[in-house]
Amino acid sequence: MSSLLKNYNRRKIAFKKGKGSFLYSTSGKKYLDFVQGIAVNSLGHANPYLIKALNKQSKKVWHVSNAFIIPEGERLAKRLTQKTFADYVMFQNSGTEATEAAIKVAKRYFYSIGKPKKNRILCIKNSFHGRTIAAIFASGSKKMTEGFGPKVGGFDHFEFGNHQSLKKAITSKTAAIMCESVMGESGIKVIPDWCLRELRKICNKKKILLILDEVQCGIGRSGNFFAYEYSNIKPDIVPIAKGIGGGFPLGAVLMTKKVASGMTVGSHGSTFGGNPLAMSAGNAVLDQIFKKGFMKSIQKKSRYFISELKKIQKQYFSIIKEVRGVGLLIGLQLYEDQTKFIKKLQENKLLTIRAGENVIRILPPLNVKKAEIDLSIKIIKKVCKEYKN
Ligand SMILES: *Cc1c(COP(=O)(O)O)cnc(C)c1O
Repeated sequence: MSSLLKNYNRRKIAFKKGKGSFLYSTSGKKYLDFVQGIAVNSLGHANPYLIKALNKQSKKVWHVSNAFIIPEGERLAKRLTQKTFADYVMFQNSGTEATEAAIKVAKRYFYSIGKPKKNRILCIKNSFHGRTIAAIFASGSKKMTEGFGPKVGGFDHFEFGNHQSLKKAITSKTAAIMCESVMGESGIKVIPDWCLRELRKICNKKKILLILDEVQCGIGRSGNFFAYEYSNIKPDIVPIAKGIGGGFPLGAVLMTKKVASGMTVGSHGSTFGGNPLAMSAGNAVLDQIFKKGFMKSIQKKSRYFISELKKIQKQYFSIIKEVRGVGLLIGLQLYEDQTKFIKKLQENKLLTIRAGENVIRILPPLNVKKAEIDLSIKIIKKVCKEYKN
């Protein structure tokens, strides 16, 4: 019997090693892994470059307190700000810590400019920002908050895609609107560019901060460094995590100089956040992702992958309802039961994972090879064909 708490319904499979897009099970089977730790292993398993970087750092120093200067962190923060809207970065260890920190930054900004009553965060109903006690109430999901009362206050909600509901929910107390540029867990729901632009306009007009949660869709996953870049807007605060560590736990919140002004000495902290090992992982990931042509290669692979999936959808329109997503954050919305479909794919040696709205999520590493995409297409086709018969 496992001594691990039963808060997960784990598949009966374990892995002894991984290499690139593949995982090798303890029972000797080889799987094409298009989960990649849920968009975490952005450069695949056992990436030689990442191994080298971590090995090198592990022989120097693992952890020092944030009471001291951490040069690896200085470098990672500088690189993140040079490539993005942000002026400042604060490192955390996970996505939910990053979203919580983002909320704190927003609240503290208004406090610091003498508007402490402007302190409510407006989120999309049934979104996902992580699992801490505040983040679950930010999601507005009944399932996630059940039994975890009393309700954490300070969050309001509007319906995805419902602009009336958004406008109605904004009050003089709204400090920030927080949403994912692409809603991952909820079913790979892409917020259209024009909606993001409208959102920015509304925020400007009402003097509200815009927090775009790029924990899942950021760091190249969308085919741009950040998914919101397709809309040409600039957010005020962006929490990141998942892909930035390439498999090493690492989160951060990026922000503009304006909003950073509230976060004075002592306003936030994290013992582990930004330690040298994590920073080396982050820097190594950026070395690869910032390479010339890397984003273009993701976009090209994405176009190919999505067009092949759409062909399957056309052929098996009674099984697959819709192909969704952007970059290598791809979803297949099914008519058939998603759990059964995922199981069948796994029996055929392709690993995928569920998302909301009966969607299966396909998350290859960003350096996936065309031949591996072709292999997955073959498997998905085969499983669809089995349904037909
Ligand atoms: C995964 C995720 C989180 C939470 O990240 P953890 O590292 O699991 O805490 C927050 N926001 C979004 C959009 C995510 O996809």
